[in-house]
Amino acid sequence: MKICVLPGDGIGPEITAEAVRVLKALDLKVELEEALLGGCAIDAAKDPFPEATQKLATAADAVLLGAVGGPQWDSNPRELRPERGLLRIRKELGLFANLRPAILYPELANASTLKPEVVAGLDILIVRELTGDIYFGQPRGIEVRNGERVGFNTMIYSESEIRRILHVAFAAAMKRDRKVCSVDKMNVLECTQLWRDVAIEVSKEYPEVELSHMLVDNAAMQLVKAPKQFDVMVTGNMFGDILSDEASMLTGSIGMLPSASLDENNKGLYEPSHGSAPDIAGKGLANPLATILSAAMMLRYTFADEAAACRIEGAVKKVLARGFRTGDIYEPGTKRVGTREMGDAVLAAL
Ligand code: NAD
Repeated sequence: MKICVLPGDGIGPEITAEAVRVLKALDLKVELEEALLGGCAIDAAKDPFPEATQKLATAADAVLLGAVGGPQWDSNPRELRPERGLLRIRKELGLFANLRPAILYPELANASTLKPEVVAGLDILIVRELTGDIYFGQPRGIEVRNGERVGFNTMIYSESEIRRILHVAFAAAMKRDRKVCSVDKMNVLECTQLWRDVAIEVSKEYPEVELSHMLVDNAAMQLVKAPKQFDVMVTGNMFGDILSDEASMLTGSIGMLPSASLDENNKGLYEPSHGSAPDIAGKGLANPLATILSAAMMLRYTFADEAAACRIEGAVKKVLARGFRTGDIYEPGTKRVGTREMGDAVLAAL
């Protein structure tokens, strides 16, 4: 298993170090190689996604990423911003499917700002298309028309792009509760009318899966009103960006949420859903569990090693049951630990 490790910026190096320890402890045949992405790459090579990183990431079976970004690069020109590196690596590797589970562990029910009865036992999967939509559509820009500036972007999806992400969602639902909710804005946007039409066509290939449709504004409301109605939600890049962050907050603990971005052959980039947390970087306070759980997703989706993935997830559950908590999920009566100690606790539980 060839894994390219991109620690990135801020807390990235601290949290990926713990995930790497966990991977090494599993006694799998892993080859790990590190490279630069994001702000650290801009500083070292004047490029957020340098050629050396491109080569390593392309040659690897999977990529484990910490996080990128920080205030010191915020005023850089667009091409020299850390987030640009992230968009480029997703595009370069053809990572069109972003899978973000939002699971509320019973021990952390109080971390949610919602009532426990609304979120207890929550287990949803948001499948977001990642390489198309208004984020990449042309034409785009800011220009002067009739004496004033106008800004414009293009929302565009081809039916093949819609079809392949719908297949990912249906395949995931087959292994879960067999429900897919497709989110669009077909009452206003033609692009998403096509999305809905294609969703209905693809659903015919999965008769065991129940397909429903929801407009994105209603989906945003339903996610906070009755989130347990959902199993798999599938949507485009921009709606998915917003809804997946909303869903992650249902759990109240951003430090717990992994993600996977896959290509057509299940090669993947795995990263926590949170950012580089510059406010706590370098202090040994960050929660490494989202990154450790991302490594579990890597074993499941890229290396098809369900047993190893379950071992990691089981160890994380044990650690929570034993009361270990980093600051972001701390409650009185539990044991407050730092990044390294949390990694130690997972290794002990393994
Ligand atoms: P953030 O997720 O980095 O931090 C939000 C809050 O959550 C902060 O208070 C932070 O301390 C806390 N937090 C995040 N991860 C944590 C963890 N593992 N353990 C404990 N606490 C944690 O979001 P932000 O502050 O909006 O962004 C900071 C930087 O990260 C920005 O430069 C942004 O562009 C970047 N960012 C990167 C990614 C990515 O690499 N995929 C995603 C989002 C934001």
